[in-house]
Amino acid sequence: MSPEIRNKYQAIIGLEVHAQMLTKSKAYSSDINQFGDKPNNNVSIVTMAHPGSLPKMNNKTIEFAIKLGLACNAKITQQQNFSRKNYFYPDLPKGYQITQDLTPICTDGEIYIKDDNGNEKPIKLTRIHMEEDAGKSIHDIDIYDTLVDLNRAGVPLIEIVSEPDLRTSKEAYNYLTEIRKLVRYLDICDGNMEEGSLRCDANVSVMLIDSKEFGRKVEVKNMNSIRNVQKAIEYEINRQIEKIENGEIIRQETRSYDALKNITISMRSKEDANDYRYFPEPDLQPLFINESQINKIKADMPMLPRDLFIKYTKEYQLSEYDAYNLTDSKDIALYYEEIIKHTKNYKSAANLMMGDVKSYLNQYGIEIINFPIYPKTLADLITLIDNGKISSTIASQKIFPTLLENPNKDPLKIAEEMNLIQDSDENEILSMITDIIRNNNIEAERYKNGEKQLIGFFMGQLMKISKGKANPKSANKLIRETLDKL
Ligand code: ADP
Ligand code: MG
Repeated sequence: MSPEIRNKYQAIIGLEVHAQMLTKSKAYSSDINQFGDKPNNNVSIVTMAHPGSLPKMNNKTIEFAIKLGLACNAKITQQQNFSRKNYFYPDLPKGYQITQDLTPICTDGEIYIKDDNGNEKPIKLTRIHMEEDAGKSIHDIDIYDTLVDLNRAGVPLIEIVSEPDLRTSKEAYNYLTEIRKLVRYLDICDGNMEEGSLRCDANVSVMLIDSKEFGRKVEVKNMNSIRNVQKAIEYEINRQIEKIENGEIIRQETRSYDALKNITISMRSKEDANDYRYFPEPDLQPLFINESQINKIKADMPMLPRDLFIKYTKEYQLSEYDAYNLTDSKDIALYYEEIIKHTKNYKSAANLMMGDVKSYLNQYGIEIINFPIYPKTLADLITLIDNGKISSTIASQKIFPTLLENPNKDPLKIAEEMNLIQDSDENEILSMITDIIRNNNIEAERYKNGEKQLIGFFMGQLMKISKGKANPKSANKLIRETLDKL
């Protein structure tokens, strides 16, 4: 499609995200909530809704949903009711899901993302509500039959519905990335899209760029990674524009994303959309949330990525790039927070994390929680550099690798044992510099005649002779002074 045609249109996107809660038991029963167990193992009469069995609300789900709501600055609904959403499917043994139709636990609030120009943009939330998952139909194990595993039936879900505030597939990518980060910081969902514990339906429409009215939306399902959500939306935007350009109209429908072909395929149109015939769940009492309950959860909120980002950029003066990377994962942020309890050199700590530590983690494919060196030890290493005892090159090339082998050793001890303590004795350095200049008088002459970049050559010589122990800053100054005096 030509950019001229593409640029005539504006895409409008709203996402519906389902997150499986990391509770020990299911949403309305004491059945175990665990991924990967033997099929149909965690299924009781409550999950199957046998006659006479009664659901009971899992308080942990409520707590988790409120946590997420507070983190998004949402309003918490004081009185909530539950509803039945009725439909037939082989993996839905009850014939209905218990959900919150008219009284979602949270309304309003927002999630902050970066727009395509890198500016912060709030994406408003319509609602967050609690519901339960269905079982899983497995089509690819038995060549004749579809198999059903009901372990997932009744697993607590929360659904996060956004307003149609997203404008590009990249914004949708960023929005989902922020949600995944948030649920992981809150420890309420593992955020794993590949395993389906985080799922997303994308609603996409397009309109002429100066139009006031949104186009008709199409819902796209079945994307199993954040990247695929972006790709599916991008495909869908182009498909809709092409249709409109051909004089066709967009029908409201649900489409499925085919990751192998990178296309979307029609599943069902609005006309055969389900009529769920919602009605109040008679077996669950209305739920009342009071202030003291909310305050208790508030008091227990963990640190959140956006707060840390603001602290790192505003208070610690780190670049947005550093702050973004440090807060990308909760464990990385926690580790960094530990380092800076012992040093105020925020920038060096960030550099060390983003440099030596990250490359070690990448090289061996391990997570920060399995990183062998204690945060305090890295803070001590930074202090050694700051006190001029070792250069940052020595720290990175000699002491850091030694610490990886001997994580319990004191960096200062290592520096002493390896004879790496930097010479700050100016006289000794000065005599080295005099020797170097004497032995390289052609270069010294050229320096005098204006080739100031030769300072690098003399620094190199000095580092070689002093075996890297000369403090680079003062050495550089001494070399210049000596050369200028010639
Ligand atoms: P439905 O009743 O079909 O479920 P909703 O109004 O509840 O539709 O919206 C569902 C999702 O679709 C929300 O995330 C919302 O932001 C999004 N949405 C609504 N209208 C549009 C539109 N015209 N284009 C794109 N997304 C939309
Ligand atoms: Mg809706």
